[in-house]
Amino acid sequence: MTRIAFIGLGHMGGPMAANLAKAGHDVCGFDLVPSLCDNAAKTGVTIAASAKEALAGADAVVTMLLSGRQVLSVWTELTPHAGKGALFIDCSTIDVASARRAHELASNAGLPSVDAPVSGGVAGARAATLTFMCGGSEAAFAAAEPILAKMGKKIIHCGGAGLGQAAKICNNLMLGAAMIATAEAFVLAEKLGLSHQALFDVASTSSGQSWSLTSYCPVPGLVPASPANHDYQAGFMAALMLKDLRLAQEAAAGAGAATPLGAAAAQLYALYDAQGQGATDFSGIINMIRGKGEG
Ligand code: NAD
Repeated sequence: MTRIAFIGLGHMGGPMAANLAKAGHDVCGFDLVPSLCDNAAKTGVTIAASAKEALAGADAVVTMLLSGRQVLSVWTELTPHAGKGALFIDCSTIDVASARRAHELASNAGLPSVDAPVSGGVAGARAATLTFMCGGSEAAFAAAEPILAKMGKKIIHCGGAGLGQAAKICNNLMLGAAMIATAEAFVLAEKLGLSHQALFDVASTSSGQSWSLTSYCPVPGLVPASPANHDYQAGFMAALMLKDLRLAQEAAAGAGAATPLGAAAAQLYALYDAQGQGATDFSGIINMIRGKGEG
């Protein structure tokens, strides 16, 4: 049995820690929010009074936090006190530069580390069907894989330090832009008198096909699992899509990459968020696009 310290028991971390405990690991968790600790305790996770207390005797540490700043703060606190060879895994979505800095903190303490952001959302976290995109050495990845396999279905080694985060933001840049394009096409179809069903039947078997269309269609009634069928209840919150698009823009600026569509997508999601829609599903942006078209 591996003893795992799990820091950050929120929407994602709570069910992920529960799945590790369910798989037989000795999981000791901590979150700054006491009610989240209480919820996790009901799922077989032992609760510590602090992150440092959770670390005691841990073979591996998993962090699932909101920002690069939070991850660096926790890793700065924990890495100097971890046991020999303890494996550090960060599953948060954060900027590539902070992810690389976190790897350095682990390496300075002689510890293996992996950045392993996820896709699949809260439903995937609950069902242990997440996809993990991993960055780090071959040896660190090999050590992390059996742990990640208890929380997900697909575990991909993308390359060295920070490249898991790079894969995540590149994927979500494609997703954000594709969702907006799909929504625009449906709104244009409405104006032209073309039915949702007819556009779906054509595009889903033609070159317009995408995950945004066939798995997560932004209009209701065409794809059973779409949040559109439930008034755009998230799903994947628009605020998190905005976060990821901003991370992609930051990375593009740092790397000197031109991403004009990514920039436009970030602006549109910022506008949607400013309209108070950050907590709705990101596919709900079709409502804003439709509203603008009527102006
Ligand atoms: P969340 O806000 O629900 O959870 C983050 C938790 O970290 C909070 O409960 C917070 O109290 C805790 N925390 C912050 N600093 C801490 C500290 N120093 N010590 C202990 N706990 C601390 O967020 P979430 O929705 O679970 O998302 C977590 C990460 O996963 C984010 O980086 C997000 O971008 C990413 N992500 C989320 C989703 C999703 O659908 N929610 C999908 C994919 C990726």
